[in-house]
Amino acid sequence: MSNTPEIGSRTRTRAIMEKYGIHTKKSFGQNFLTDLNVLKNIVDAAEITKEDNVIEIGPGIGALTEQLAQAAGQVLALEIDTDLIPVLGEVLEPYDNVKVVNQDVLQANLPELIKAEFTDPDKPIKVVANLPYYITSPILMNLLASPVEWSAICVMMQKEVAERLTAKPGTKQYGSLTLAIEYQMTAEIAFNVSRRVFVPAPNVDSAIVVLKPRVDELPVKPFDKSKLFGFVRGCFSHRRKSLWNNLQSTIGKQPETKEKMQEVLDQLELSPQVRPERLTLVEFIELANALHENNLM
Ligand code: SAM
Repeated sequence: MSNTPEIGSRTRTRAIMEKYGIHTKKSFGQNFLTDLNVLKNIVDAAEITKEDNVIEIGPGIGALTEQLAQAAGQVLALEIDTDLIPVLGEVLEPYDNVKVVNQDVLQANLPELIKAEFTDPDKPIKVVANLPYYITSPILMNLLASPVEWSAICVMMQKEVAERLTAKPGTKQYGSLTLAIEYQMTAEIAFNVSRRVFVPAPNVDSAIVVLKPRVDELPVKPFDKSKLFGFVRGCFSHRRKSLWNNLQSTIGKQPETKEKMQEVLDQLELSPQVRPERLTLVEFIELANALHENNLM
């Protein structure tokens, strides 16, 4: 094994793809990472130690999995592509702390898998992945909705999506995805990754984002989390329009409704002309709570 180049090297990736006749599948967002520095930097950014249980989403041919296996206590990898399962079985054979399951991450019962597959499920659990880009947002939303307390989520995604996750109020990238993340986690871009290090090269550059659980509690709690985010999405449905216009489309245009909405905005000292992207998470929560108290939500 010592003379075999690591899976993430260009030569080994090519050799594995040739040996097993692998043709990457666009429908599964398969872009294999072939740069050992980038792979090792991902593991560093996730601060993986032998104390960690790691879940990897989409191991592909195992380039990142191998690096994770060397750094982590145990690795559980979920791969949707049945054709890759025997390949992963062979290339990861030297690592007895890796388990690969043939599952769609969006259908998987993660709490059950964690209980069944990790020797000590109470150790910190981190998600590390080079995500399939076509389902980045659904995967993140699923992870955040899960009852599992992630100690960190360190994932590669399209740079543009990474910028939305970490955006500040008042910017073009700021929106309902930013707020849904901010509600539970802090988000930071660890580093950017050129499209040239993938096989095949995607049409976009990428970035590694590290999400960690919020340490501080939010100063206000929403009356209902899922209604809050339904409302936030409604407020961003016409980004170029004012908050007032968006409120009318989501809540209603009846004179009585408008009068009550105006009262709520006055009470919160929010200008009806403000654009939704100017509002902070706390302001959205206060607005939703006040609308709820006035029977408008
Ligand atoms: N980790 C590998 C690497 O870095 O080279 C492959 C990353 S590739 C961008 C995304 C991987 O996710 C592919 O292996 C693909 O088959 C897998 N995948 C796509 N959709 C999935 C899903 N719903 N559940 C689990 N894996 C999925």
